[in-house]
Amino acid sequence: MTELPVDAVAAARRLASAHVPQEILEVAQRLQAAGHAAVLVGGSVRDVLMGLPAADWDLASSAQPHEVQGLFRRTVATGIEHGTVTVLVRAGGETAGVEVTTFRGEGAYIDGRRPSAVTFHRDLIEDLARRDFTVNAFAWDPVAREFSDPFDGLTDLRRGLLRAVGEPARRFGEDGLRTMRAVRLCATRELELESATAAAIGGALEVLARVSRERVHVELVKLLAAPCPSRGLLPMAATGIWPLVLPPIDEPGLAEAIAAVDALPCDAVVRLARLLWPHIEDGRAEIDEALGGLRHGRAERARLTALLGPGVLALRDAAEPVAIRRAAALLGREHLNDALALLGSSSPGAAAVGSALAGAALTIGELAVRGRDLVEAGIAAPGPALGRLLASLLALVIEDPTRNTPATLLDLARSVE
Ligand code: ATP
Ligand code: MG
Repeated sequence: MTELPVDAVAAARRLASAHVPQEILEVAQRLQAAGHAAVLVGGSVRDVLMGLPAADWDLASSAQPHEVQGLFRRTVATGIEHGTVTVLVRAGGETAGVEVTTFRGEGAYIDGRRPSAVTFHRDLIEDLARRDFTVNAFAWDPVAREFSDPFDGLTDLRRGLLRAVGEPARRFGEDGLRTMRAVRLCATRELELESATAAAIGGALEVLARVSRERVHVELVKLLAAPCPSRGLLPMAATGIWPLVLPPIDEPGLAEAIAAVDALPCDAVVRLARLLWPHIEDGRAEIDEALGGLRHGRAERARLTALLGPGVLALRDAAEPVAIRRAAALLGREHLNDALALLGSSSPGAAAVGSALAGAALTIGELAVRGRDLVEAGIAAPGPALGRLLASLLALVIEDPTRNTPATLLDLARSVE
């Protein structure tokens, strides 16, 4: 792991050597040339300091949205009510969008005609003061190469601490999502909650309960995709966030589930399924409620439903090739890798899955005869009975895959009828 910069000078040195995309630099330069402040803020500055690749650079400016619109020929008012304007610039023969967000903060007085150092400084500090955590409250001026760290985030980063900017209870009370962001950042950036910050979360749970499920879900998925999710799941349980976001698990199942999640591949869906797994015995209603509350995308939901359905239970208990094929057919081939990841070595037949399924048909579509063939051979008439006949043939093929030839299946069809 890259060493963290020892002080602000070393931090500036590291930031100066980071690759900031040319189009972002150009937009920052143009804003500054017009007398505005323009600095990089947020997670990318934090990540560069941590020696991680920076994603989505956030450019913040003292320029008001209409001033940004006035300075650039092509802009899109993407989030103008939040102060965000996207500037479209040519970069390497293509058009790139650079988001510029106006400094925000309580009582921020923004006046682009007074670009004095004092105004700039005051506004930037106000913008940083409204950010959630000290390690997210840095700014880097990529033109003047100036590093700002008014809340001593670098010291916290060096200590591995996630600390709220300002008074934690007030900050969590203003926006309940920050409690969930706190545990998510603990997981993704391997930090620990500073004690006063951790202690304030309990008092803000009512505020978290009012936050939209979608926003909470985004944070949960990020947490679960981290290399070591327990770093976020343990504080999620300790602070009381857990039952607002996931169905509760009693000890010792909880410790077991958290440890198991760390050992699973970095896939949020499989890991989420493992956390819902202890509820599989409670019946569909609990699982459905948990899934409904989490608002997944369609593909995500299909994977979760399969992972929490009867196919996985059957696969877990299957030892013989026939039982493995029946379980796989119930699960659906597309969910097999997910199920094997979830079960790990706990299923008796895990090692035998490959050979049990080699070349085996698991769906009617994979049979060596079509319904049409059965009709043409005069064995069945189109209709529901034909569907049942095909299902019977599939069951016979799952029992013995060598039966999957046209001649054998036609013979079998005649005898089944
Ligand atoms: P990631 O690396 O996952 O993008 P991030 O810290 O950049 O993490 P974003 O959601 O991209 O998270 O937010 C960008 C920045 O905006 C944060 O670093 C923080 O300064 C600020 N921020 C985001 N959400 C909040 C919030 N709810 N309250 C206060 N500040 C916030
Ligand atoms: Mg970000």
